[in-house]
Amino acid sequence: MADTYYITTPIYYVNGEPHLGSTYTTTLADALVRYHRLFGQDSRFLTGTDEHGDKVAAMAAANGERPAELADRVSAIFRAAWPRFGIAPDDFIRTTEERHKRVVQKILQDVYNAGDIYFGEYGGLYCVGCERFYTEKELVDGRCPQHGTVPAYINEQNYFFRMSRYQSWLVDLLTAQPDVVRPERYRRELLAFLREPLEDLCISRPKSRLTWGITLPFDEDYVTYVWFDALINYVSALDYPDGELFARYWPGAEHLIGKDILKPHGLYWPCMLHAAGIPMYRHLNVHGYWTIGGFKGGKSDRAELREQEREEALRLFRDPIALADLLGVDGMRYCLLREMAFGSDLDFTRDLLVTRYNADLAHDLGNAVNRTVAMIGRYCGGVIPDPGQEFDVDRDLRDAACAAPGRVWAHVETMEPHLALDAAMDLAQRVNRYLEDKKPWTASKNGDAEGVATTLYYAAEALGIAASLLLPAMPTKMLELRCALGLDEQPPSAAGGWGYLEPGLPVAREARLFPTIER
Ligand SMILES: [Zn+2]
Repeated sequence: MADTYYITTPIYYVNGEPHLGSTYTTTLADALVRYHRLFGQDSRFLTGTDEHGDKVAAMAAANGERPAELADRVSAIFRAAWPRFGIAPDDFIRTTEERHKRVVQKILQDVYNAGDIYFGEYGGLYCVGCERFYTEKELVDGRCPQHGTVPAYINEQNYFFRMSRYQSWLVDLLTAQPDVVRPERYRRELLAFLREPLEDLCISRPKSRLTWGITLPFDEDYVTYVWFDALINYVSALDYPDGELFARYWPGAEHLIGKDILKPHGLYWPCMLHAAGIPMYRHLNVHGYWTIGGFKGGKSDRAELREQEREEALRLFRDPIALADLLGVDGMRYCLLREMAFGSDLDFTRDLLVTRYNADLAHDLGNAVNRTVAMIGRYCGGVIPDPGQEFDVDRDLRDAACAAPGRVWAHVETMEPHLALDAAMDLAQRVNRYLEDKKPWTASKNGDAEGVATTLYYAAEALGIAASLLLPAMPTKMLELRCALGLDEQPPSAAGGWGYLEPGLPVAREARLFPTIER
């Protein structure tokens, strides 16, 4: 384990509002930072908004706003949205803040002084949507692969970052540190890009065309290209170069992104860091798309997906608050993080998430908790009982509960959050099987008070550990679960450890945490 952990989301572009994709990314970052804290690591979580560039300027002009007004308005929407999903970043950075502009200009000047920025002329096919030039080869039937629009030919003088110089360095790095980009398929994708010559990156826009950006420190007539500006947020938010936060957290830097922005994060950013003399990030973690009928966030005409189902999926994709209303905030967090295999695309429907919710939360976890609490009320006077002799079946449950934190952590460390949650939920499922095996209701009829006490103590203890391990996904509900077991409202400071429930602690009379949802 590194000494510290620093997780970042992409900073969201202020030409749109939060949707399911950005909500998933930010929820996952929140859950990851909570996992790292639960396992004792000094951790920090950054998100924010990306506010410069052509698209923002164009959208503001269309609205009759100044770009700064648009940026203020939409950035505030993002900032206010995240707490509604239980998301608690430590910092929220805006690229229009002075603390950010200062660092962008410093890095530009450093790279310029080192000879890696030069002035040149460039003509090329430019997509306004992507804010970048395309080579003929990258286009699909002459159209932008992201937007499907025909790029315009633009010829102008600009500044260029000599990225080509770092091609072999980057290939070596991606080869020597195979897990620097995760999952593996995205590292292979980067190495495939790098089999072609890495072209220098145009990093300026003339003010004659665009003024909404950070002025180049060495030429007043130009602003900085939006990617060269935006990527730097990850270090400007730590007060690079001299900030205490930078020294403390940058060695643990992990970026979390969607696969649509693999290239800037996997090619430009490492080269920028290297040119500026900043150590490489630890990991680039890349997730897939939320698709509806096979298309990213939308437009589909796949016949099998019923029109009504597709409409509903689209509605929930565009309005994640409606999804939180449906599943509860914690239910939504769990289902998003559990359902998407990290790195793969997921074809999303309401039914998929409701099925997951009902199976895992209402049925498995909910039943285990309800039964345990209700039987402690019925057979043990409503307090945590004193366990008696341990038999094999009890020891099996205790062994599983003690092994669970290690299993969960291993998946967190290898960036398989869906499997981390699966390992935690497995413990709740074991409690149900254990209760079926031990049948405390029969033992009670037979007058075996010690057997009943042991069973219910073991079930409660295992559920308390499951609650700690699920808490990063469901911070409110799992604190409620812990309270139902007689624990206090403090979040657990460690992931596990058998024997923390004190016999005699009063438990709740009932715990209905996850009501079943109609399909
Ligand atoms: Zn495009």
